[in-house]
Amino acid sequence: MKEEVTAKRVAIVGGGLAGALNAVYLGSRGYKVDIYESKEDIRVSDKYKGRSINLALSARGLAALEKVGLDQMVKETGIPMPGRIIHNLDGKTSFIPYGKKGQHLFSISRSTLNKDLLTAADNLPNVDIHCEHKLIAMDIESTKLNFQVHGKVEKQVEADVIFGNDGAHSVVRKEILKKTRLDYSQQYIPHGYKELAMLPKNGEYAMDPKGLHIWPRQTFMMIALPNQDKSFTCTLFMPFEVFDRIKTKDDVIAFFKKEFPDSVSLYGEEHLINEYMTNVVGSMISIKCDPYHLQDKVIFFGDAAHAMVPFYGQGMNSALEDVRIFNGFLDEFHDNMGLAMQAFSKSRNVDAQTICDLSMQNYIEMRSLVSSKSFLIKKHVDNF
Ligand code: FAD
Repeated sequence: MKEEVTAKRVAIVGGGLAGALNAVYLGSRGYKVDIYESKEDIRVSDKYKGRSINLALSARGLAALEKVGLDQMVKETGIPMPGRIIHNLDGKTSFIPYGKKGQHLFSISRSTLNKDLLTAADNLPNVDIHCEHKLIAMDIESTKLNFQVHGKVEKQVEADVIFGNDGAHSVVRKEILKKTRLDYSQQYIPHGYKELAMLPKNGEYAMDPKGLHIWPRQTFMMIALPNQDKSFTCTLFMPFEVFDRIKTKDDVIAFFKKEFPDSVSLYGEEHLINEYMTNVVGSMISIKCDPYHLQDKVIFFGDAAHAMVPFYGQGMNSALEDVRIFNGFLDEFHDNMGLAMQAFSKSRNVDAQTICDLSMQNYIEMRSLVSSKSFLIKKHVDNF
């Protein structure tokens, strides 16, 4: 049993990357924090075992983890990626460094980072985690939240402040949209994505693990990031209509032999077919809204505030950075929530919308220009 704490109560909706980090920051400041997460506890559930999904972590995200002493775990388990490894059609590869010697991104496991952040939050006496609590409605004036618990019962809780960290399809944001003059826009892109695991070969990485692999093919592309277990998680980005045209096992092999010939033996034909036929195609959305808060009662962060297409590799990094920046404002305004929320919305909006735009531009750049000369001489700060 954790001790009763009488500090200001913050309800964090969503125990993903931003939500869990927010709980660590706020819990360390002495707030009474409750995380409400719709899914089962990823630290114990069997549902999330098996597939490795990885993300590119950059300086922006690392700085946010550093501030609360959580950077060491990603430095220990993350795989340094000093540059991009470009795969041409003829199978030749070339290396493009991301920055100066010694600089690199980390390929990190999404689930390991999420679990570690939740554990760090749970270790604080004033933080409680409630899994299988799905927000279905909230009353902004009274800051009351209604949850569906374990898929059935409804439960109402009250907090002093609500933090929306519930991702791109945020219910917190939707509830605010109903009540106030919140500017909001969203855009789905015509491309979808499919993740494909590339298993180790004879106990070793099938490709060089020291880079982010890219197969740029003009209207589509595939990327691969290394995992700790010596596998790669590859992601194929393609228009939905092209995914729809690949129907049979033969279609899969014919497509990969034509477009990504060097990858076929690396996957192994049977495994590739199995991965392709089994795994779903996800959609990608870009969201902008302004402001990110309402009075001194509600604020939202990460994908709930500014989901972006993943081609700049900055969605998670920006979500983690949101948390660090907001806490800077809590410092500046001596924990006056209203002032901190106002300052955050005002300053963060410009930067976040710019990253959303850059991500959209890189959507074209990565698949078409990455192998061209113009790309090689262009100065870039992007992840992918
Ligand atoms: P999420 O991670 O979406 O977390 C939201 C949480 O809220 C979830 O746990 C969810 O279960 C919970 N939730 C949702 N609704 C409710 C509800 N009603 N009640 C309670 N809980 C709820 N970013 C990078 O920086 N680098 C990368 O390399 C990268 N690669 C990507 C590749 C792909 C293919 C995609 C699609 C995205 C990628 N991103 C990357 C973006 C990154 O995944 C997101 O920006 C990041 O996950 C945002 O974190 P978040 O905590 O805001 O939201």
